[in-house]
Amino acid sequence: MCDLIRRPSVTPDDAGCQEVLARRLAQLGFVNETMQFNDVTNLWSRRGDASPLLCFAGHTDVVPPGDEQLWNSAPFEPTLKDGCIYGRGSADMKSGLAAMIVAIERFVAAHPEHDGSIAMLITSDEEGRARDGTLKVVERLTERGERIDWCVLGEPSSESALGDIVRIGRRGSLSGILTVRGVQGHVAYPQLADNPIRRFAPVLDELHRIEWDQGNDYFPPTSFQVVDVRAGIGAPNVTPGELTARFNFRYSTEWTHETLKARVERVFESHEIDYELNWHLSGEPFLTQPGRLIDAVSTAVAERTGRNPELSTGGGTSDGRFISPAGVDVVELGPVNASIHKVDEHVRADDVLELTRMYQRIIELLLL
Ligand SMILES: [Zn+2]
Repeated sequence: MCDLIRRPSVTPDDAGCQEVLARRLAQLGFVNETMQFNDVTNLWSRRGDASPLLCFAGHTDVVPPGDEQLWNSAPFEPTLKDGCIYGRGSADMKSGLAAMIVAIERFVAAHPEHDGSIAMLITSDEEGRARDGTLKVVERLTERGERIDWCVLGEPSSESALGDIVRIGRRGSLSGILTVRGVQGHVAYPQLADNPIRRFAPVLDELHRIEWDQGNDYFPPTSFQVVDVRAGIGAPNVTPGELTARFNFRYSTEWTHETLKARVERVFESHEIDYELNWHLSGEPFLTQPGRLIDAVSTAVAERTGRNPELSTGGGTSDGRFISPAGVDVVELGPVNASIHKVDEHVRADDVLELTRMYQRIIELLLL
């Protein structure tokens, strides 16, 4: 793990992390395959040809450390203090990667003739644009008919104690990028102008009043948020000729991006407004149904912590959105996320050891 943190793999640079993992996996009989897409390095590594295939997935890239002066220890120098390991990527998610590798090593040593196959899918493009990473690897696997049955993502899912939360899905994220056209004019002669702010205000009001859904058993209600609105040209006596805005939906499985777009466009069409609306889909919502994977993960957590984990779909998006659509059960289990993306990112050293045992137990429950 320290070897990984020492490599400044600021997204999308892998900085040699995947080589460290690949070397250890090769010693266990894994076949390594580097998949390079543009400037992104990905690793697909597999042991065995049989199904079912259990895949551990994660990323080696990290977010930039920011102003290094603000850190109490150098961000790329792993530092042990008060039982915690500090360093950029320690929680998100190099400890997860280290725990996976050691769990796999222990499992294979004890059960070299295990059922099915084990794989690792590692990208260095999760914290950035996420275009040439997991998405492309899964595309390639699908093209050649290679099917993952279960996937454990090592993203930091835990909130206050290791294993208190595992993620079994994520909300979808859809953004609208809007331009409203009007006619610029003198503020004193509104009859000669057409103010796009006045046109947009009732539409915005209506969008805010809509109860999109009430959520469901696994998802919180869909939320609509306006991120940005701009118009004026900076002069107090001029009404603007154009307004631009950006809004975002975090949505449940009650919607698809198509039904959500259609609903919003119906609102716009019911008003007198000259507009152009473009959409950006970051990810459809996904949900893993109860089954062997969720059972195995819950059991492994309960055995180590004495508590059943909360099964949640909260938080932002993750690479699970690219893996799940291929018909894969995906669950995220990783360390506490309180310090991720922050100065002095850290993870409890004990938690890394416990996480390793949980991962090993998951493999035992699925492949023995
Ligand atoms: Zn992450």
